[in-house]
Amino acid sequence: CVRTLGVTGGIGSGKSTVCRLLEALGARVFYADEVAKRLMVEDPGLRHAIVEAFGPQSYQPDGQLNRAYLAARVFRDPEALRQLNALVHPRVLAAFKQACEQAARERVPLLVLEAALLFESGADQLVDHVLVVDAPEGERIRRVVARDGMAPEQVRARMRHQLPPEVLRQRADFVIENTGSLEALRQQVAALYRQLTAT
Ligand code: ATP
Repeated sequence: CVRTLGVTGGIGSGKSTVCRLLEALGARVFYADEVAKRLMVEDPGLRHAIVEAFGPQSYQPDGQLNRAYLAARVFRDPEALRQLNALVHPRVLAAFKQACEQAARERVPLLVLEAALLFESGADQLVDHVLVVDAPEGERIRRVVARDGMAPEQVRARMRHQLPPEVLRQRADFVIENTGSLEALRQQVAALYRQLTAT
């Protein structure tokens, strides 16, 4: 069986950067959000369930997901969001289990599951260890503003919808403090990778 590490953190904490560094060291990364987006288009059972729950407007005439429509449906409607997640998350978890089997066959040294909603989706139950990436709120806001051109207030609004950093940290096996340079981050990630892949 392959060793697995779940990676999560709030918006702008640096989880994608950490995952790219892990990839460079030899890990394989399963990006849950990307897989979810792909399955919503490519998995016929999931498409059917989404249309049943949210209507045919959920997809555009060319078959692509109608992201704006669905976002509007779940925005400020926690029950609709819960319903959508209840359809998507189990399928993503099933895809991760398959990725585990494949990674084990290919003797991948570490399989990483990157998920913004690692705990909320129950994906934390499928991994050996959980890494939480964190950084001070002001730093996270600055980084997201620089990356996406989002307004700081918009970033704060996203933060309010996520589990607070204290809760993430309590549930973590490892915490990376992404407060310094990218080089400092690289060194922390390399040390953790060595620890996790030592026989
Ligand atoms: P999201 O939840 O929005 O997907 P994330 O947690 O995946 O965010 P990243 O995209 O990895 O975060 O990082 C946010 C931005 O901050 C990126 O532009 C990244 O290059 C930059 N960044 C991350 N860590 C550092 C660092 N230590 N120093 C400088 N910039 C950083």
